[in-house]
Amino acid sequence: MNKHGHVLNGLLLGVGVGFILAPIGNVETLQTIVAVAVPVTLGALVPDIDTEFGRHRKTLHNLPVLGLFIAFPVVFGNLNYVWIGVLTHYVLDMVGSKRGIALFYPYTQEYGFPTGVATKSQYTNVVTLFITASELLVGYAIVYGFGRYGWSLAPLAQ
Ligand SMILES: [Zn+2]
Repeated sequence: MNKHGHVLNGLLLGVGVGFILAPIGNVETLQTIVAVAVPVTLGALVPDIDTEFGRHRKTLHNLPVLGLFIAFPVVFGNLNYVWIGVLTHYVLDMVGSKRGIALFYPYTQEYGFPTGVATKSQYTNVVTLFITASELLVGYAIVYGFGRYGWSLAPLAQ
């Protein structure tokens, strides 16, 4: 997926997650949208830094890098929600574009789904919107489905 798609995905996820976490539609909702959309969008831009430093779709497109972004807020108390942008970048690349990513880098095999379109296809926005909606459904299920069993994203989002 291209940068346009990743930014669109990050911003829409920020709005969607803002409403999932603060669904009333008041000032708290707006604050939550900004608090989520900015770091998620920044996180969504991180993996493609490897177009300049390292090997594209390998060096910063893998599970160890995602693990570092998940651990960072727990250890240092900042960069909250950035991991969501990194994760959804991987999803968009794997599901929405033809080329996969090297999830287990430095093992260089790239993994993806046969669902993607070319990054310059006229359908990239439609695919991005469909994947974003699917991700929000998963997020909703996590917050309101598993939440009732006592499982929470709170430790990752502090
Ligand atoms: Zn990428």
